[in-house]
Amino acid sequence: MTWQLRVDKSVCGATGMCAALAPELFVLDDWAEPVKPEIEPDEIALDAADQCPMQAITVLADGKEIGPRP
Ligand code: SF4
Repeated sequence: MTWQLRVDKSVCGATGMCAALAPELFVLDDWAEPVKPEIEPDEIALDAADQCPMQAITVLADGKEIGPRP
């Protein structure tokens, strides 16, 4: 199984929290972007999605949304 990372740049507030929490997964420029769109399952990706204040991060597992968690 692979996970997919998405950042909605239209709502990202460029806080840098995701890149600070998981620099191997997110990079911050004018907005955050996934380092790689497809990753091995990694709990930190879910943590980043949960903690994004703008709910800009979506984590999918084989196309099914699993993060942010409710
Ligand atoms: S934590 Fe959310 S708002 Fe902040 S840079 Fe990352 S995606 Fe953007």
